[in-house]
Amino acid sequence: MGDFFERVVDLEVTGEEAGTLAARMVDWMVAEGVITRETTGDAMYSLPVDVGHVPGPGWTRAVADDSDPSWFPGPVAVLVGRDHHVGGQGQHAADTATCPRCGVSTVVIDYPESFEADDEVWQPFMDGIEAWRKTGRGEVACSACEALVPVTEWEFGPGFDLGALAFDFWGWPPLSVRFLAEFRARLGHRTEGQSGKF
Ligand SMILES: [Zn+2]
Repeated sequence: MGDFFERVVDLEVTGEEAGTLAARMVDWMVAEGVITRETTGDAMYSLPVDVGHVPGPGWTRAVADDSDPSWFPGPVAVLVGRDHHVGGQGQHAADTATCPRCGVSTVVIDYPESFEADDEVWQPFMDGIEAWRKTGRGEVACSACEALVPVTEWEFGPGFDLGALAFDFWGWPPLSVRFLAEFRARLGHRTEGQSGKF
């Protein structure tokens, strides 16, 4: 049913704990019948993960509206490991980055003048994110207050999040409020939702 996704990103789990938590979430969704242990690479684009879980017989329990009998959702991909996650379509940088110390926002993509990231502005964030991906630690100095702030504490614009665990629901009808609330409670961390198209 198309090449769009709804994503939940865990913003707080550590890279070390992400695998165990992912396995626990899969066990729960399998037990609920939302997904199966069978995997497929069809109709999903969650690189670098190339397969996702095939929906289970109880997949409708997870969605807000299951009234379209012809709708059968695609796989659910589980992305384990520190990474940046982007929503939208083909977005690669955050629109803005706001310093949690002084509250000053740095504009990365200067809409509507430009639809591309200002490389000079974005480069320190890319470097900090790359260091965090590799080691679990990465910082960017704020150009306004000069504080050295961990990349995970910067507030990025919508559709750009850092996390060590994410779930991509490919081609699913919108997930229900109830399912998402239980999903978040079971993660036990702050989360962010994204959606996008391949
Ligand atoms: Zn600052």
